[in-house]
Amino acid sequence: MGKRCPRCNSRFDYPIDTAIQTNQVGTPTRTAHKDWATHCNIPLSEEQLDYITRNYNDLLCPHCMQSIAAEEHPVSVRELSNFLLDLSRTLMGAGAHTSRVVRNVTRIAESFGYKVDMTIFQMHITMTIRHAKDDTVRRTSVGKIGAAAFNFNTISQISTLSWEAHDDHLSFRELLERYKQIIHEPRLSRWWVLGLVTAANACFCRLFGGDVYAMGIVAVATLIGFFIRQEMSARHINHMAIFLVCSFIASLIAATGFWFHLSSTPETALGTSVLFLIPGVPLINSIFDLLEGHVLVGISRAVNALILIVCIALGLSATMLILGLDML
Ligand SMILES: [Zn+2]
Repeated sequence: MGKRCPRCNSRFDYPIDTAIQTNQVGTPTRTAHKDWATHCNIPLSEEQLDYITRNYNDLLCPHCMQSIAAEEHPVSVRELSNFLLDLSRTLMGAGAHTSRVVRNVTRIAESFGYKVDMTIFQMHITMTIRHAKDDTVRRTSVGKIGAAAFNFNTISQISTLSWEAHDDHLSFRELLERYKQIIHEPRLSRWWVLGLVTAANACFCRLFGGDVYAMGIVAVATLIGFFIRQEMSARHINHMAIFLVCSFIASLIAATGFWFHLSSTPETALGTSVLFLIPGVPLINSIFDLLEGHVLVGISRAVNALILIVCIALGLSATMLILGLDML
């Protein structure tokens, strides 16, 4: 029986009479590939068999199986490029600065014998990946960076994973499994975050010279303000609107110090009540990006952060206007 190889497109003889075992979508099963390799006397590792089953919808010619058997960790340019694009989108969404993303992706690609060129913008990533020894094996892909919550744990774990890929030469399957574990790790409970942010903001008030009553007022303002922020974020409301509303509500609650003369430092309570909204991560990342030559991303991150700071200022001003406070 004559067959056409899906990898090199050449014809070859398939001398076995029994039907090839296929799965639901009509492609040969892993066992079918294995039996055929055994028949041709080509020793394939489990990883190589996985690779063939994942990537080809028909049996390969003996010549192609030989060349795959010579590769210790085979991976197709399509698989690797899809994986690396997803990984870089995750890293950007989790709040990594640009050159860190580029370093992680390059390290993993090199461990599989590929080179990477990336262009990263605020909203999109363009990535071209090519084989280090064969320039014709290349693929360019573009992906959108989704809005995700910052997660430094994800960033540090992916960074560690990229070093493991580099040092221990992980197989593609191992890499993919570890990556899935990392991104599916449960996040810190929102109630924990709420409690910790409240405590941190009250401590900020103390650092800026507020008394114990001011700390109490700031804690209540932060608790309610941050809770509203969590609720609004969960409903995918525009983040500028979120910052405006939360800044207004938190400062309005903090202003009770002026109304009821609860504290001897009411101005500190008012000033620090909105600190939990300051976009620290984009501000720090924008400086890193600017220093490391990713000027466009750096500027766009800085502009984004500045817009949010203006929203905070507007919310705070609204409170001061309504209550007629004049502290300037
Ligand atoms: Zn072939």
